[in-house]
Amino acid sequence: MPELPEVEFAVRRLRRAVRGKRVERVRVHHRAQGRTLTAAVLRRIAGRRITDVTRRGKHQLLHLDDGAVLVVHFRLDGDWELTRAAVALPRHARVTFDLEGGRRLSLTDPRALCTVHYHAPGHAPTFDLGPEPEDPAFTPALFRARLQGKRGPIKPSLLDQRLVAGVGNIYAQEACWRARISPAAGAASLSVARVVRLLHALRAALADGHENAGRYHRGEQRIPFKVYDREGDPCDRCGASIRRMVQAGRGTWYCPKCQRN
Ligand SMILES: [Zn+2]
Repeated sequence: MPELPEVEFAVRRLRRAVRGKRVERVRVHHRAQGRTLTAAVLRRIAGRRITDVTRRGKHQLLHLDDGAVLVVHFRLDGDWELTRAAVALPRHARVTFDLEGGRRLSLTDPRALCTVHYHAPGHAPTFDLGPEPEDPAFTPALFRARLQGKRGPIKPSLLDQRLVAGVGNIYAQEACWRARISPAAGAASLSVARVVRLLHALRAALADGHENAGRYHRGEQRIPFKVYDREGDPCDRCGASIRRMVQAGRGTWYCPKCQRN
């Protein structure tokens, strides 16, 4: 599942390709996306120019020149494909935008779980999301205050998009490893020093992700993650065997020796 670095990568790629371009025609190819993109909505989008593409958490925002905004979420498997409009539709194309200049932007998704919501001019989207983890205004003090409202262990807490936006299963556990904090440590009881370390670690893990975010397009797991999906491998820091456990239904990999409760 794409997380913040992968979505940011998709946004930058899309921005370069479509900013300033006029949408000539929009089509929906699966009923799941047709629920939000009705025929009336498709008519409103046609003819508009895409003025910018931005990101909030894992949401992608396509801004149109009449003030409308399309909010796209990849969910598990969504992705963009840019082709010439003349070629056959990509497999699993769910929504297509024919752009001026003979290009076609396709939102592809094998499982059709991706979502597209149209926000009419004057009805800007609002998001029930926490701060962006890389926003300099998001300080350790703010992070700690937010963590103190959480019950339960730290790693599943980091997946709560209302706590901090854009972090998913991979970067949450990578951050815990980098901070030398057990994924099972209580979120609310982390000391000031550990929260400082965790925020630094989270940003370092995301920075690593930004450098390698193109991997989402080439299949996941090309990046040498520190713990994710590395059960039995030696820890890069102390050599102990990486272990796996399940927290809140999701796999968590960690070092049992150098990550402390
Ligand atoms: Zn270790």
